[in-house]
Amino acid sequence: MLATERGVIETGAPIPTWFGVGGAADALARPASPDHLRLLLAEHPIVRMLGDGANLLVDDSGVDGLVISAERMRRVGAPERLRNSDDVIIAAEAGASLPRLINDCVRDGLAGLESLGGIPASVGGAVMMNAGGAFGQIADAVERVHALTREGAERTIERGDIGFGYRRSGLEGLVIAAVDLRLRPADPSALRERHLEVMRYKKNSQPMAERSAGCFWKNPDAPEGWGGPRSPDGARVSAGWLIDRAGLKGLRAGAASVSPVHANFVVTEAGATAGDVLSLMRQVRSRVAEAFGIALIPEVAIWRRGEFDPARNGGAAL
Ligand SMILES: Cc1cc2nc3c(=O)[nH]c(=O)nc-3n(C[C@H](O)[C@H](O)[C@H](O)COP(=O)(O)OP(=O)(O)OC[C@H]3O[C@@H](n4cnc5c(N)ncnc54)[C@H](O)[C@@H]3O)c2cc1C
Repeated sequence: MLATERGVIETGAPIPTWFGVGGAADALARPASPDHLRLLLAEHPIVRMLGDGANLLVDDSGVDGLVISAERMRRVGAPERLRNSDDVIIAAEAGASLPRLINDCVRDGLAGLESLGGIPASVGGAVMMNAGGAFGQIADAVERVHALTREGAERTIERGDIGFGYRRSGLEGLVIAAVDLRLRPADPSALRERHLEVMRYKKNSQPMAERSAGCFWKNPDAPEGWGGPRSPDGARVSAGWLIDRAGLKGLRAGAASVSPVHANFVVTEAGATAGDVLSLMRQVRSRVAEAFGIALIPEVAIWRRGEFDPARNGGAAL
């Protein structure tokens, strides 16, 4: 434990992730505000941002540099009505819990986030990954992002200038400090029904009770003339379908396996290591390449010691 002017920096700190595997952070800080975050960035050249750890695999040897957890930056402002519109803006710090915010908005009759039910995330992590699925994506509710450069300089980025795409935000070199979300008044009982419908769909089609990081792979671009389930715009084919068709459901490496419920989920059991997940990942990737000639790309961020690329949010290439 190292006490500095900027608060406590813990050494050898475990990194909590939904996979429940992986090593420790050489150094970990939990700033209590965007100001504190800015000071840390200005002082540390290698910084990896940690949200809720729901889309993250940390290597067994842990990571170097400073891991900054947003868990204490959870403030959410009261809704502010816009001029000339019934819509409201809610300002949320990066570490605010997305599921909690969704519940509050549904209760208060504010529409825009209810289709993201069942996605574990911090608001910052959800915006960075443009979290979403068949029912919508968080990009649709983002009005502006308050970000910091890796050197700690402030940047406010308006909706139209954010390069959102499929499971990406275009903000990868930046740190998200807070987000303004634009929501619209709606009937709370209709919102509750929609929220429940989305949650039910996820419960029925995904192994929600097991340890995973959600979909492990991005849905790849589909070659011309291909069948299989596609994205609504037809551009991508389901990675889960390819893995299933390659006969890989239930494939194991140590205590990690391809879920029999949904082939795009890698699930871990007690005793699993990041090495198990990485080994399984390589097997799936090469067998899908053999079967279909398609190179899958992980959706999950992978952190490894000695590998740091700010453009990938501190993550590493496959
Ligand atoms: C059971 C389950 C179901 C899931 N279902 C879905 C789904 O339906 N749709 C979907 O899109 N995802 C899904 N996921 C994946 C995950 O919930 C999302 O990717 C989510 O956006 C991750 O947010 P996080 O806060 O946990 O980010 P983390 O996992 O902590 O981080 C993910 C990446 O974002 C970066 N990051 C985090 N916070 C910040 C910040 N403030 N500034 C800059 N970079 C930051 C990290 O450095 C890392 O590169 C699921 C995961 C699980 C475990």
